[in-house]
Amino acid sequence: MSAAPLTTEAPAIALSQEAILDARDGLYLRQAIALADKARTRGNRPFGALIVAADGRVLAEAWNSTGENGDCTAHAETSAVRLASPVHSRDDLAGATLYSSAEPCVMCAGAIYWANIGRVVYGIDAMRLRVFRGERLDQRDAELSCRDVFYSSPHPIECTGPALIDESSASHQGAWKS
Ligand SMILES: [Zn+2]
Repeated sequence: MSAAPLTTEAPAIALSQEAILDARDGLYLRQAIALADKARTRGNRPFGALIVAADGRVLAEAWNSTGENGDCTAHAETSAVRLASPVHSRDDLAGATLYSSAEPCVMCAGAIYWANIGRVVYGIDAMRLRVFRGERLDQRDAELSCRDVFYSSPHPIECTGPALIDESSASHQGAWKS
């Protein structure tokens, strides 16, 4: 039995490959990215999300509003769920897709789970976003992938991303404290 070579180098972290979207998914994800840019112009973190029914109706759209209202839970995806959940059935939401300009955090993944939303498409992934977040504790995320939450769900939650990485990254250029 040969021993593995010793190394002091950190293992290379593999970044997720970009998912290729069809025209419909691309259209709605770009709308989420536009909402992220709107959030930023209003003094918030640059995140946006919308929930689209199976028939193409937009059920809810929201942007991060933590800067505007001081509510640390006012992430785009959770805010969109709060808008959609009281007025749409779990069955309707099971057929819906939540588009988010960035990979949902663990809180938003939980909200998506509780809403019974069946599908998620996101832009920049959490690992790439950490380059923008940097090391400040007030900007770092809890490093648990939304996929870990979705895999734990008793009902299926399809997850596609990262997608439109360049476009979704652009919202974050210069938007975080160093
Ligand atoms: Zn979140």
